[in-house]
Amino acid sequence: MSKKSQATADRGKEARKHTPTFLLELPLQVNEGQAARLRGHLEAGRQFYNAILSEGQRRLRAMRADPAWQAARAIPRSQKQERHAAFLRLREHYGFSEYSLHEAGKVLRISWLAVHLDAVLAQTLATRAYQALNRVCLGRAKRVRFRSRGRGLSSIENKRDDTGLRFVVEPAEAGTRGYLLWKQDKLEALIDRDDPVVTYGLDRRIKYARLIRRRASSPQAEGADREGYRYFVQLALEGIPYSKPKHTIGQDIIGGDLGPSSIALFPREGEASLTQFCEELEPDAQELRRLHRKMERQRRAANPDNYDEKGRIKKQGKKKLHWKQSKGYQKTRRRKAEQERKLAAHRKSLHGKKVHEIVAVGNTVIIEKVSYKAWQKQYGKSVGLRAPGMFIGWLRRTVARTGGTLIEVPTHSTQLSQFCHGCGRHVKKPLAQRWHQCACGVGPIQRDLYSAFLAAYLDPADPTPSCAHYLGYWEGAEARLRAAHERLEQRANEGQPLPRSFGISRAGARRPGSPSQPTQELAFLLTRGRLKAWKDGSEPPLL
Ligand SMILES: [Zn+2]
Repeated sequence: MSKKSQATADRGKEARKHTPTFLLELPLQVNEGQAARLRGHLEAGRQFYNAILSEGQRRLRAMRADPAWQAARAIPRSQKQERHAAFLRLREHYGFSEYSLHEAGKVLRISWLAVHLDAVLAQTLATRAYQALNRVCLGRAKRVRFRSRGRGLSSIENKRDDTGLRFVVEPAEAGTRGYLLWKQDKLEALIDRDDPVVTYGLDRRIKYARLIRRRASSPQAEGADREGYRYFVQLALEGIPYSKPKHTIGQDIIGGDLGPSSIALFPREGEASLTQFCEELEPDAQELRRLHRKMERQRRAANPDNYDEKGRIKKQGKKKLHWKQSKGYQKTRRRKAEQERKLAAHRKSLHGKKVHEIVAVGNTVIIEKVSYKAWQKQYGKSVGLRAPGMFIGWLRRTVARTGGTLIEVPTHSTQLSQFCHGCGRHVKKPLAQRWHQCACGVGPIQRDLYSAFLAAYLDPADPTPSCAHYLGYWEGAEARLRAAHERLEQRANEGQPLPRSFGISRAGARRPGSPSQPTQELAFLLTRGRLKAWKDGSEPPLL
């Protein structure tokens, strides 16, 4: 590519970047012959992807083995330009770039693969392979994964909507019909004309189409092909997604405190709340764990030789362990995959519900910036289940769409969980201490709710909390915080289980109140009735 055309291409990219994109997914009606051809195309795509991945991996390894690589790494990060130039020289020399892999793809695509794959589709696959390899190159991933024949390629996409894989909308007397065109096949999409999301989406300009293949719950499931796959088309559309008219937009400013399993909200005007985040997912997760244990048992039963006398998996020696998969195991694995899909869908709907609940109150939200990655390490299970980072991403997009903002203030300047507005002191609370109570007379208040209150009145321009700033608001806020807390106690008294992080123990058990007490342990022990002698030191907070 000449310099000039490269520049034009860059500009084209730039121009595309500036228009927002949203996705619309439609199921496809696929007959047996079409399904067989789709499988063939996707299999060609898989082999091409693996070939590019392997070529790229070879180049990456050669590049990293070069002594110049270590030399480039040794350049201190402060010398930004030099470091950048050194790495760029290496990448050019070894042909490790998106563009070079596109070029490599041109060579690899001739042969039978070209019959199945258009040049543009091959390019998007090469880009995908490059992105996977680049993550390894930058140290963000350990290794790349080749696609096995069994798993296959589950999606393939185009870059444009005029050639190759593309979607066409045809007006008909009975309503709009839509088809995904690929090679000689014309696959009809199921269009629900009563769904405003679908009709709105089909009115937008299509940027490109993506074919998705998913496992159905069983080969006999409705719409599945012989191998038990279902097909969907995902359209990348220009514009912003449809917002349902039932979703109202509030004008309040809301302070929030998101924990690994809870969310505290404090609107400046409305009702404060502390709720468990995505609590409805618990039963789904339980079912998943059960299936996981079942798979473990089935695997063990089918491969007794792979375990030592203590029941541990044998160390892998020179010979790789071979694992047999029984029919039952495969069936459980399918059920588990289906359960995982259901859980993800359920989580998405819960996230959406919460987002709209918040936006209905107000579309300016102030929270402390959290590292979800660090959470993932500390609370892996809970964070993996509830996906708070994904939720915040959704909230950010939704408030932006409605003209508001999600303000994430840096924790190090605010330290809301340590601050007391009464005396201005920063006192670090241990994680187990769920109450804010200060010698200056503030509190006791549940700490997450208190943080949310502090966040609600932060000045985004200067997010350092100051006492004078809060004094005027405290009077009105205290009652609302107390009300939020009383609602929680009500729930606890009704016997609803609440997470321990709320600092409210079950009905009948006594609540520890003094901040000098190791509250969590105490509550925990008391509910089990083991530590009667400590009762005297655990008066409930005076609310
Ligand atoms: Zn204080």
